[in-house]
Amino acid sequence: MRLAVSEADDPLTTREVSEAVGVPHAHMAKVVTRLQHLGVLDARRGRGGGLGLTELGRGASIGWLVRELEGDGEVVVCDGETPCPLRGACRLRGALRAAQEAFYASLDPLTVSDLVASPTGPVLVGLLGRRPE
Ligand code: SF4
Repeated sequence: MRLAVSEADDPLTTREVSEAVGVPHAHMAKVVTRLQHLGVLDARRGRGGGLGLTELGRGASIGWLVRELEGDGEVVVCDGETPCPLRGACRLRGALRAAQEAFYASLDPLTVSDLVASPTGPVLVGLLGRRPE
């Protein structure tokens, strides 16, 4: 979301984004790598380099993105090391699956661009102390 409100000719670095949103740099670097693999983010090295959203990233469905990041596992582990005895006939399991799908479905119509409309976008811009000139 922070990258969606960046100026194209003044890209942010991973460190700047991590400091702006209060996330450890090592964690942010992992997030950047993951988002690059999904094709939603570009990282250019060297002078004038930095992070930028791709066209796919700008228009991608948030539901798709969260599914990709979270995986398709169930919210409760029913078939784990000690499988739950109810797992073959559990109404709760079905209800949780439906709730999980409803959660994703509610995010499907949204894009990153939608999420940075006012009032969010201006707050995101203000989060960053720009690097000294
Ligand atoms: S009670 Fe149902 S939802 Fe909970 S672990 Fe057992 S099978 Fe899964």
